[in-house]
Amino acid sequence: MIRSLLPQVLEIIGNGVMVVDSDGRVDYWNRWMGEATGVEREDAEGRTVFELFPGMREKAFRRNLKSVIAFGNFAFFSQKVHGAVFPMPCAPGAPEGFDRMQQSCRMGPLRHEGEVCRAFVVIEDVTEAVSNERRLAEAASRDGLTGAYNRRWFDRRMEDEFDRARRYGRGPALLILDIDHFKSLNDEEGHQFGDEALKRVAEICRHALRSTDALCRYGGEEFCAVLPETELGQGVALAERLRTSCASSPIAFRGAKRSLTVSSGVSAWREGDDVTSLVGRADAALYVAKRAGRNRVEVGT
Ligand code: GH3
Ligand code: MG
Ligand code: MG
Repeated sequence: MIRSLLPQVLEIIGNGVMVVDSDGRVDYWNRWMGEATGVEREDAEGRTVFELFPGMREKAFRRNLKSVIAFGNFAFFSQKVHGAVFPMPCAPGAPEGFDRMQQSCRMGPLRHEGEVCRAFVVIEDVTEAVSNERRLAEAASRDGLTGAYNRRWFDRRMEDEFDRARRYGRGPALLILDIDHFKSLNDEEGHQFGDEALKRVAEICRHALRSTDALCRYGGEEFCAVLPETELGQGVALAERLRTSCASSPIAFRGAKRSLTVSSGVSAWREGDDVTSLVGRADAALYVAKRAGRNRVEVGT
């Protein structure tokens, strides 16, 4: 009796289930498939998955189907590799930022009298899990206060930039920016005011950067901008813009209002550089800017 109830499970289960033959022709299409694709069972059964899902990765699917039918193997299509084997719209209420449902799929043999005669395909909608994973990864790469990237992310990004520089001969410029007399600002106006100032400075920087540039919180009140494929002159011009923007944007917070200034050191990639030497030149330039009176931009040579 229980066995006769089992087909109902296929209809209420929260996964796509298909049975296909060796050509990928659909013999069975569960209710989930109908809801997810908008294609009714009557219209799906008898057609191949390649007709039903134009743009699917036909070669990979055929290769796996062949090994399932011929050898009784199982196949797994991970979302990380394939994204979506069967292109479908996202389910209603799915998280934003995906143009199609993210899936992980399994395929395996169905036997009749010991011989493999069909393959089953089970599709799992993993869009939400992928979205959560991306959100966590994003959060782990950012500084909570300012939203700028954190130091760990910066180190990884610099490695990527240097790989690119070695390959294409064009490297990044680097700008290190430090708030002047930030300790006295904290002491006189309070730590929360200081936090507000950090957020504002990060905002000003982000506003001035290109979409390919990246802002990182390098230390307590030190920011670092990675400027891919940028020459020294452009980096200095940006640093000057940031310097004047900061000086002309007083921070207002809970009745208090204070102006602040920033100093910067700028360096640009040259042949033979590594991360340490590029950062070192920008850092040394920042030190010179501080020694020379602050509210200045200096170049690392
Ligand atoms: P200089 O002009 O030479 O840069 O002087 P400074 O006072 O800015 O430099 P210093 O490095 O002596 O002080 C940095 C201060 O930044 C000390 C620390 O209390 C403060 N700070 C670091 N992180 C935070 C933070 O997250 N919030 C706040 N409010 N202050 C911070
Ligand atoms: Mg400082
Ligand atoms: Mg500092």
